Parts: sequence; C-alpha cells; structure tokens
Amino acid sequence: MSDFNFSLLCGETGPLTTASRPDRLRLSLEGVTPVLAVGDQVLGGTKVAVGNGPDKGDLHAPLAGTIVEMDFYSMLIEVDNGGKADPHSPCAEGGEPLRLWLKSMGVDVGALYKAATLILNGVPPEPGISVFDPLLRDYRKTLEMGLEAVQKVVEPAKIFLVGAKGNRANAFANCTVVHVNPVYPSGLDPLVYKTVLRQEVLPGSRPDDATLLSVKDLYAIGRVMETGRPLTETVMTIGGQNQLVRVGTPVGFLAAEAGAQVQPGDRAVLGGPLRGLAAVNLEQGVDKDTYGLTLMRRETSLETTDNFCLGCGSCERHCPARIMPGMISRCAEFKQFTRAEAYHIHSCMECGLCGYWCTARRPLLQYIRLAKYELALLAGAHAPSAPSEDQIKEQTGDTPC
Ligand code: SF4
Ligand code: SF4
Repeated sequence: MSDFNFSLLCGETGPLTTASRPDRLRLSLEGVTPVLAVGDQVLGGTKVAVGNGPDKGDLHAPLAGTIVEMDFYSMLIEVDNGGKADPHSPCAEGGEPLRLWLKSMGVDVGALYKAATLILNGVPPEPGISVFDPLLRDYRKTLEMGLEAVQKVVEPAKIFLVGAKGNRANAFANCTVVHVNPVYPSGLDPLVYKTVLRQEVLPGSRPDDATLLSVKDLYAIGRVMETGRPLTETVMTIGGQNQLVRVGTPVGFLAAEAGAQVQPGDRAVLGGPLRGLAAVNLEQGVDKDTYGLTLMRRETSLETTDNFCLGCGSCERHCPARIMPGMISRCAEFKQFTRAEAYHIHSCMECGLCGYWCTARRPLLQYIRLAKYELALLAGAHAPSAPSEDQIKEQTGDTPC
C-alpha cells in the first residue's frame, strides 16, 4: 500500500449496472428477528425478519426461493424462478406514519427525525468508492423522490448538499452546495458536520438540530417511494465499477463475477481499504449498507503484527480527532478498557488512518473497535431487544399509513 492514494476524486464513472443473480443469498440477521422458518418459501419482496428497536428496517427476500438454513447470524435462501410480491402503495402521509412505513419497507430510519438542518453527504466515504457519482448523475428523479419523503419527516429549514471539490454535486431545490477538500477523510460524518455546522459532533451521536443522510441513503428511500417495493439492494463499487447488488449476494460470487480469484491469505473487505471489515468467509452476503468490495492481496497489503508500540507518535500526527491512538491501543491490548476513555476513545471516528501510518504495523483500528465494544458492554448497553410475538404479528402485516 506504499503508493496508496487518499484522493476522493472519482473522475468520470460509468453507468450503474445490475449485478448478476446469485443462486443463493445469505442474509445477515444482525439487529433483526426472523419471522419465517427453514423450509418456508418466499417471493421477491417477502418480509423475512422485522427490525429490532425503533430504527432498524425490516428485512425482505431480494429474490424468490426457499429458506434452507438459518442460525443466529444469517439466513440462507436458495433462489428459484418464483416471482415478486405485489408492490405497496407508497405512503402519502408525512411525519411518524411515513417513518414507520419506510422502516417496514426495509429502510434504517435512525437519521429520520425532526431537525432544522438536513445535510446530504455526497463525499465518497473512502478512496476508490464512487457510488454517489452515478446516482447524482443518472438517478436525479429517484433522489428527488427520496428527498421529498425525507423532508416530510425531518421538516428542515435548511438543506445542504456536501460534495468533494471536483466531483459532481448538483444542488436540489432550496439546497446549498458545500465543497470540502477532496482528500480522505473529509467525507466522514463527524467532519461533514463540522464543515456545515461549525461545531464538533461526537461520532455516533445525534445532534438535536441537524441530521445527516448519505446520497446512497437518499437513493434507497427514493427507490422505495418510486417502486413501492421494499429495499433489497445496495449500491457498491467493485473493481472501479458501480453496481446495484441484491442484499445477501455472497462476497465470493461478486469477486468471481468481477474476474478476481481470491487466493489463500487474501482478504475480501466489505467497504473500502481503510475502514472496511474483512468478510468472515466468501459465503458472507453483503448488507444494505455495504458500499464497496475491496480485495486486499496478501503480497501487497500491509501485514499487521502484535509488535509493541514504539511511542513514535506517527499515529497521533495523522489522527483527525486529535487523540492518541497508540495509547488507546495499549489500553485495549492490556484489557484496560475504562482507561481508554481518559484518552477520549469516543472521539475516534474510525477512519483507520492511525493503523495505516503505524510504524510498528499494529492493528490500531481493530484495537479501538474492540475497546469500544467492551466499554459498551461495561456500560450495560444492549442491542435493541427483539420484538414480542404480538409486535411481530403487527409488523408483518401492512403498516397502516
Ligand atoms: S481511527 Fe485512529 S486516526 Fe482515525 S480517528 Fe480513530 S484514533 Fe484517530
Ligand atoms: S504509530 Fe504505532 S508505534 Fe508509533 S506511537 Fe502510534 S501505535 Fe505506537
């Protein structure tokens, strides 16, 4: 990775293409409760799980088939030639009924709340990811339908579209365009908030008077409003091409379609090279929020080690949150998780730059994510609980709107 380029400029991208149909779909069950069982047959668009908590969208089968396997983590659907479930009439109301309808249609609605400022983030999340460009160029109508729906819930007084200077960022009606430096990590949400609001927002927190959606989120909402069909696809950059991919499509299938052979020791990363997560195996399916597939070859990517921290300070010099990743990684390494809070671990926006620049090649982002996870457990934070049987019955019917 010595010649790695941090530029967020995407240049001219080609049209969005639709990825091939896989024979099997592996849907992640993280944050959702299944409502069907092994052996059940589904149509494309059948609801297979309801989202836990108030924000997580329900999960629908992208294609028709039979559920052949299910465990705590995922559901496997063997695809057949069955058809699609009937489309729904898009919700004509605004506010909470529309929010609930979108959730029932598979949209994660955590960013949909009343706020004075709505920020649309069109800055690529990582180098090499260009999913927003074809959406802003070719799917204007879908984005406008998404924005209309979002405005009915958020009711913003001001709208900003943030783009990397040099990339496409055509304004929508009553929207101000703001440009940022086209260099990673300018597109990460905390830095976009800082650019627009002139205030620092703790990563993962939700400011009272502002909310932020990516152009990809807007497209997802627009597509649901336009088609009346649930959200069952994601837009991903794979090998420089942007594709519409069915949720649950296995990583290995996508790599093979792109002509890449994954060798032992290579890593297939869901997302980009700096903050993506390595797939557990090539059978893992992509999620609704996966925006890229990056293949990291064993011989060309940096091998991380459990070397001691040298105290050289290189990670600190590159940290956009101005914290001490080396010290936090030492706390995590020796299980002193609460001590990591004294080093402001919660200000970390998980950009991955510290790990990239670490002289000792320590897995700094992984240490930080581990410490955050352990701290959440210590604080008694629980994932939203599964809905009761009555709630499931209510949520598997049509959401009144
Ligand atoms: S990942 Fe590392 S460099 Fe990025 S904000 Fe967190 S501590 Fe700083
Ligand atoms: S760059 Fe690596 S070795 Fe240097 S202080 Fe940071 S963690 Fe320690």
